Amino acid sequence: MTAVQREAHAFLAQFHHRPFTVTDLEKALQEQGFSLVEFSRLSNCKEVGTLLTSLQLVNYASGLSAFTYQDANLRIVFLQENLSQHEQMILLSHELGHILCGHLNRAATTGPGSGILEEQEANDFSARLMRYNETCRPRRTATLIALCLAVLVLAAVVTVGGVHRGNPTVYLTESGQCYHKADCKYIVGKDNTTAVTLRQAKASGYDACTWCFGHSGT
Ligand SMILES: [Zn+2]
Ligand SMILES: [Zn+2]
Repeated sequence: MTAVQREAHAFLAQFHHRPFTVTDLEKALQEQGFSLVEFSRLSNCKEVGTLLTSLQLVNYASGLSAFTYQDANLRIVFLQENLSQHEQMILLSHELGHILCGHLNRAATTGPGSGILEEQEANDFSARLMRYNETCRPRRTATLIALCLAVLVLAAVVTVGGVHRGNPTVYLTESGQCYHKADCKYIVGKDNTTAVTLRQAKASGYDACTWCFGHSGT
């Protein structure tokens, strides 16, 4: 197993087949002691501008979308601002690859500071991570299908509920031959009434009470 394979595997194992996000990558960088600083290729706020100048990274910032800097006191991943989530994922996983594969132990920066083989390793690491996220996508589709099914089941339950409304609860008295609505004067305040469905009442030979059902029988 190469260093890249080992590190990519270790990183991905924590996600248990769910896709990782930009936030997950930031967290992984932080765990390695790196903080993220966003920069603009054109004009930076004073703080970032001063930082880039003092670390002699102005040329890096004007030519690269992402690079990493490390010295005895500072560990910073610089990332160009206003990039898409997808671009951020590719760039941050590339820089994470450099870090996890130990490239920053040999040079203070990535980018011009990295050799061809190191860039190859970082690209390989990033590609493995991005491929993993691609393979997670069918699972998202499966989740969507499950969700659709749940909605269908819910719709069916609602429909059944509708049928149930067509078969309402009616009330029988102990001695009467009629079924009643709950608010019928023959039912209200009486003990010994029995709740059944309209269908059950009809099937048992009960007739509609003319007081509460009128003459419609429903
Ligand atoms: Zn690189
Ligand atoms: Zn009645």
